[in-house]
Amino acid sequence: MIRMKKMNKLLLIAISIVLLLTGCGGENNISKGDRPIIYTSIYPLYFLAYEIGKENIDLRIVVPAGSESHDYEPSIKQLKDIEKADIFIYIGAGLETWADRLLNSIISEEKALRASDLVELIQVDGAYDPHIWLDPLNMIKIGEGIKDRLILLDGKNKDDYNTNFEQLSARLKELDRSFMEGLKDKKRDTILVSHAAFAYMAKRYDFKQMSVAGISPEQEPSPKTIADIIDVAIDNDFKYIFLETLANPKTATVIAEEANLEVLILNPIEGLTEEEEKNGEDYISIMEENLVNLEKALVR
Ligand SMILES: [Zn+2]
Repeated sequence: MIRMKKMNKLLLIAISIVLLLTGCGGENNISKGDRPIIYTSIYPLYFLAYEIGKENIDLRIVVPAGSESHDYEPSIKQLKDIEKADIFIYIGAGLETWADRLLNSIISEEKALRASDLVELIQVDGAYDPHIWLDPLNMIKIGEGIKDRLILLDGKNKDDYNTNFEQLSARLKELDRSFMEGLKDKKRDTILVSHAAFAYMAKRYDFKQMSVAGISPEQEPSPKTIADIIDVAIDNDFKYIFLETLANPKTATVIAEEANLEVLILNPIEGLTEEEEKNGEDYISIMEENLVNLEKALVR
C-alpha cells in the first residue's frame, strides 16, 4: 500500500514535469517543438501547405473558419503567434491589407512568402485581382513555391515534400482537366456573380463574369448599377445568379427577384465554413461543386 502511494506520487511528479516541459496550456500552447511553424493567411494557402507539409510541419491559419477574408483583422494574440512563424505565407495583391503592416515589424521579409509573386496577375477595373487560387494551375505554381521554401527550411524531409507536392500537383491537374472538359461546349459565355472573384477561373476556362459588387465583397453597388444589372440580366435572358457562401447576399438577392433569376452557389473558397470543415470538404471538393453549378449556367 505504501509502495502504491509512493508510485502514485512519483507518477504525479513525472506528469507535472511533462506538463511543465510541454507548456500544456490549451489554446495558448505555442511550443516550438522540432517542426517548423508555418503560418498561412487564408484557407487556399493552408490547403496547399497542409497537403505538402503534412505531419512534418506545425501549420496554422490567420483567418479562421467562417470569417470574411477581405476585412479581417488579426488579434493581438495572433500577432504574437505569427511572430514565431518560420514561414509566413500570404496572398498579397491587396487581399490581406493587415499583412503588409506585419512585414518587417512582426515578421521579417525573408520569412514571408507572397503567393501573388508566383503567378501572373490579372487587373480588374484598374486594380490587381487577388483571387489567384481560383485557377488550379496557379495553385500548382504556388504549391511549388511552398514546397521549395519548405525544403530550404527543413531539408531532412525533402523527399516527403517532393512526393507530397507531386501527388497534390496530379490532383490539381486532374481538377483542371475536368473543368476544361466540363466547360468546353458552352452555350453561354457570361455568368452573373455577386462578387468579382472569378477573373482567374474565367480566363482559364474562357468565360466572362459580370459582377454586382467589386473585387472586395463589401463594395456595395449604387442603385443605378443595380438597375443596370437587372436590365442586362433581363435583356440577355440570364437564368442564374451566383452567390458565394460567406458574403452578405442582400443586393444579389434583390436582383435575383427583380430579374427572375435562380440563385446558385459559386464558392470563391476564401475560407471554409465550420459546416464545410466538419464535412471534410476541401479546395478540390468545393471546386468540383463549383463546376457542377457552372455547367448548369453555361453548358446546359
Ligand atoms: Zn474575395
